[in-house]
Amino acid sequence: MAQPLIKHPASELKGRADARGLRESPARTGRIAASVGFRISVFLLSVTVLLLPAAGAFAQKRLPRTAPRTSHTRDVLSPEAREMIDLASAAVCKERLADPKGSVPIDDMQARPSLPVTSPEAVAGAERAQRLLATAKNLVEVSLRRLAADYKLNSRNGYNPRIQRAITRVRAVKTIRPDMDSRDNASVFLKNPQTIVFGTIFLAGLPSDEGVVSVLAHELVHIGDGGEDNLKLLFLAVGNRASRLTSLKIQGQPAEELTCDLVGTLAARFYVSATPSYEPLPRRISRSLAHNCVEQDEGDDDHLSPKITIRALLTLNPTLSRELVYGR
Ligand SMILES: [Zn+2]
Repeated sequence: MAQPLIKHPASELKGRADARGLRESPARTGRIAASVGFRISVFLLSVTVLLLPAAGAFAQKRLPRTAPRTSHTRDVLSPEAREMIDLASAAVCKERLADPKGSVPIDDMQARPSLPVTSPEAVAGAERAQRLLATAKNLVEVSLRRLAADYKLNSRNGYNPRIQRAITRVRAVKTIRPDMDSRDNASVFLKNPQTIVFGTIFLAGLPSDEGVVSVLAHELVHIGDGGEDNLKLLFLAVGNRASRLTSLKIQGQPAEELTCDLVGTLAARFYVSATPSYEPLPRRISRSLAHNCVEQDEGDDDHLSPKITIRALLTLNPTLSRELVYGR
């Protein structure tokens, strides 16, 4: 099965079965210390206006009222846009194959044996996730604020109290808890909203910072939504837009999961901007999507299929697609 099928009552468990592709994880040294990561995040917050357009974020520019309507505002894909999504989707999985830090696809990951929390790979993965948590929290905050603006969820003064409540919940998260029984899943429990539970297979197999940031961001969005459904309107807006663009019906839990993934790709893209390296841009940004490069492309009641997820996310973020194809 391409996706785990464990159900989760929303009142108790959020974001269950967020399986991500994992692979052996050489216990590598992180590129930045947590404190440095925090400073990077502060930097990001201070230059949001500059970074967000570069990161894609739907590339929603404030058009004058007299501007011609674009495919973006009409929510209709041109043939050129469809071709770009095809190319970008292929680029994600091509990059994964060549990437020493590439994630393993979900279906491959699910076939792997359980991994004790004391295994070196799980320990290294847990340390990496904990190290990147502060950065991911800041990047989620930036992403949520941007999406609230892009989807016109703010009041006239640019404020949305429900988004703010979600951000407050995100800021309170403190701990990564590795768990062998969770295997290739990550979860958050509403009764313990300061902790993200990570399966050890999952932790051990995320060989890149970008992959870890995207997964952390995904779970943080679930936490931000919480039992109050703080992000309900955002999930609805993203689901509606994705539905129009893909001609699929994306609502309810699949819309929430897609929004969590969308924030994950945004957060990972911001992270790439904030931590320059000699690695090719497409390789780095593909890491937030590469776990979806499955052989058996199956969804479930809560999740779109992995490959449809890739396409939906690229459809929502045309700038990311162009960067994957053109490398800039
Ligand atoms: Zn989820």
